[in-house]
Amino acid sequence: MKKQKNKGLIIVFTGNGKGKTTAALGVAMRMIGHGKKVVMVQFLKSGSGESQAAKKFGSAFKIWSLGKGFTWQHSPAENKKIVREAWRKCREILKDPRYALAIFDEINYCMEYKLLDPQKVIQELRKKTNAKHVILTGNGLPGEILDVADLVTEMKCIRHPFQNSLPAQAGIEF
Ligand code: ATP
Ligand code: MG
Repeated sequence: MKKQKNKGLIIVFTGNGKGKTTAALGVAMRMIGHGKKVVMVQFLKSGSGESQAAKKFGSAFKIWSLGKGFTWQHSPAENKKIVREAWRKCREILKDPRYALAIFDEINYCMEYKLLDPQKVIQELRKKTNAKHVILTGNGLPGEILDVADLVTEMKCIRHPFQNSLPAQAGIEF
């Protein structure tokens, strides 16, 4: 069989250490450098430095920050609604040929906390075209997702400034 040269990858950045979202942003920079368009949906966060930075890239980089802070600040019904809306946006993006890379930021937490069914995610990922790469970030990794992913990296925490009571700093944490 002839070896397939290009494949739209399913990439997962997971683990308890810092660097999942920032790794995805690194891939985004590369893609933009190659003249490709990138889109990111943030399931849990809003007002991050990256959403401000994306505006400077114009149509090359679009970030939808649909989260409203961390999930435990909301009722289960509110959380479900936020996740449902964000997932609706992701499904739209998967069908949108403009984007070479789609990043679904913190989607792994949503699956881990049963706010989103991994089977539904897989169903949509299977339908995507080969021209599109997808990155799923967040701690937690449902077995079903592991089965379909092409690249899985686990960030492991060795040390984090929070352990020394250092507060989150702009540009580093958000
Ligand atoms: P980043 O967005 O900085 O790449 P991340 O995506 O890996 O981090 P998240 O799970 O999104 O991490 O966590 C959000 C916040 O929690 C970040 O501000 C990050 O610094 C912090 N964080 C990540 N890992 C740890 C950890 N092991 N201990 C404490 N805080 C952490
Ligand atoms: Mg993150």
